[in-house]
Amino acid sequence: MTPIPPTRRGACPAFLAPMETGDGLILRLVPADGRLSPAQLRGLAAAARRLGNGMMEVTARGSLQVRGLTAESVPLLQDAVLALGITPRLGLAVDVSPLGGIDPSESADGHKLAAEIIAGAQPLAGKLGPKVSVVVEGGGAVSLAGQKADVRLVATGPGQWALTVGNAPARVLPEADAAAEALAALVSIAALGRAARAADLPGCGGRARGAEAAPPLGRLPLADGTLAFGFGLPFGAGDAAQFEAIADALDAAGARDVRPAPERTLIATGLSAGAADVFAARLAALGCITAVGDPRARVAACAGAPACASAHIPARALAPVLAEAFAPLMDGTVSLHLSACTKGCAHPAPASLAFVGMDGGVALVHDGPASGAARPVRLVADFPAAVASLAATLAARRAPGETTRALLARLDPAGLWADGAMNRRAGKDHVTSRAE
Ligand code: SF4
Repeated sequence: MTPIPPTRRGACPAFLAPMETGDGLILRLVPADGRLSPAQLRGLAAAARRLGNGMMEVTARGSLQVRGLTAESVPLLQDAVLALGITPRLGLAVDVSPLGGIDPSESADGHKLAAEIIAGAQPLAGKLGPKVSVVVEGGGAVSLAGQKADVRLVATGPGQWALTVGNAPARVLPEADAAAEALAALVSIAALGRAARAADLPGCGGRARGAEAAPPLGRLPLADGTLAFGFGLPFGAGDAAQFEAIADALDAAGARDVRPAPERTLIATGLSAGAADVFAARLAALGCITAVGDPRARVAACAGAPACASAHIPARALAPVLAEAFAPLMDGTVSLHLSACTKGCAHPAPASLAFVGMDGGVALVHDGPASGAARPVRLVADFPAAVASLAATLAARRAPGETTRALLARLDPAGLWADGAMNRRAGKDHVTSRAE
């Protein structure tokens, strides 16, 4: 079946506006208080199995998604969420660190400013586009640097915040002015219409910054002396049974709650040191990612075919192949993105390498978003061999002590992918290039 073009950039599933895709409707949920009890996670998983196809996801922005719903089951799932005592975030997305207020390493707790912005933006409901977002970064163990935002506040010192609107240069403001200035920017965006983003404002366009953020994995100290523990499901997805097993592990470890977090992670809080060890072992047995050294930690992949009707390739099914091939190169300086079309849902920000399905093949973008893909140059059937060859060629040419980021900048990986040079130089020809 020919993939249908993805919905326009700027549209995403939401709690009250699920989106149709290949395996039914997707509903996105962000708990308004940023956390779930183990019982709520277990209940959500059971509802996903009963009312959807059982698949759940944690997105790059730390949202939960339930897949495979129908027009009839959506309201039942919404009711189930409310019956579990989960209050969904509605309206403007304002993201703060999931550990804000309990992270001893943060410069400031962004929750107060976030609450002021949410309250002040109420009159803009219906006037701002659904994807307009705000990030309030107080620093600390959980980086929000990888999250694109129309309006960004970053704590720069005691009582000081740097405000960035779109891609304009940052302005440093006293805390007393930060929320009002952020709201003024939102009013300006709303004045341009619901299709507008901050980059449409005068002086706020230009090239988006391509920040990388390490996923918050493993032990994280908390202010009360307990531990948080960050973990992820492979490529952010799992079935209801896996989420129920995680809920059981949270209960067994005596966790207070679990918090959806950036970079497709979840963070359990309130653990003792001994409980954290046992919890980590249980998660590892479930196939979860528990340490930054896991090559899957920096690989994003959307659901792909057949789950998404816009997919050109089975992205998530191919993702383990990509992670395994690039494992020797994953030194924490690069991120990989496998996107089944140019929309790039799983990693909206630029990735070090974005492999993009299109027109029966796979294109490669270096240091850019999936939308930057120009043409496919590798056949889908050859993808495993092609990524193996590319990774082997890159590894063979890495200078002692060179980071993978520096290596990619030096070797033009998109060029290697496009012209098949890596195969000729390696004396092999097991990858077919459309250009050849
Ligand atoms: S990026 Fe993936 S999930 Fe998003 S629309 Fe394209 S195929 Fe679907």
